[in-house]
Amino acid sequence: MSSTVLTPKSPRTVEMKTEKEIAMMRRAGAVVAGALAMLRKTLSVGMSTKDIDGLAMSYLEKNNAKPAFLGYRDFPASICVSINSEVVHGIPSAKRKVSNGDIVSLDFGCIVDGFYADAAVTVPVGKVSDEALKLIRVTEESLERGIASALAGNRLGDIGFAVQSHCEQAGFSVVRDFVGHGIGRALHEEPQVPNYGKKGTGLRLVSGMALAIEPMVNAGGPEVRILDDEWTAVTRDGRLSAHFEHTVAITDKGPEILTR
Ligand code: MG
Repeated sequence: MSSTVLTPKSPRTVEMKTEKEIAMMRRAGAVVAGALAMLRKTLSVGMSTKDIDGLAMSYLEKNNAKPAFLGYRDFPASICVSINSEVVHGIPSAKRKVSNGDIVSLDFGCIVDGFYADAAVTVPVGKVSDEALKLIRVTEESLERGIASALAGNRLGDIGFAVQSHCEQAGFSVVRDFVGHGIGRALHEEPQVPNYGKKGTGLRLVSGMALAIEPMVNAGGPEVRILDDEWTAVTRDGRLSAHFEHTVAITDKGPEILTR
């Protein structure tokens, strides 16, 4: 789940993780990865987004994990399901059915022994447009590039630059109103991790940080608006949006993806 951009009132404190804590997050990450892999395989035409939430919830129960999103600021479900022009934070509903040609973003997090992991994928269902396939590919590539920049000694702006430049070269735009985030003992920790930025600027990255890097990429303009349900973010121009996310630990050996 992405974080709303807020101006912090107090000085920012980045919670560092020990190797033992990273190992706990790895367990949460494995559950998130397993759930998303299962959902990707199961997703089909005619399913409701509420069905998807039910599958996600039972996967958590089987794996002794707790939902990270259910109840977070009163979010009413365990997973965000955002279809086509929905960017992020779509609320599962029995009335919303998956159709042939949809692109479905699944954003999912869990808690194991007090530690969080968070990840997202966008899945094409049936026959989708060439533009949709390109958007999905470029968004996933931009995440990989962002992760490759998550090196001790680099800065936050290097991650944002890697994501933004790749998406804009393809003719797409990155969302500004939501950002990635630190993660660990809470779903959203410092620092904020924007999907835009300048090389060599911002907070310096050090081993022991854990970040949820999550490009939200629009086929058209970057502007979004929030629906009356107060959660679902949609593109202002009605064009498609895609979302990929991993929880990543910065280590001396390079970035470790905890939700692969
Ligand atoms: Mg997130």
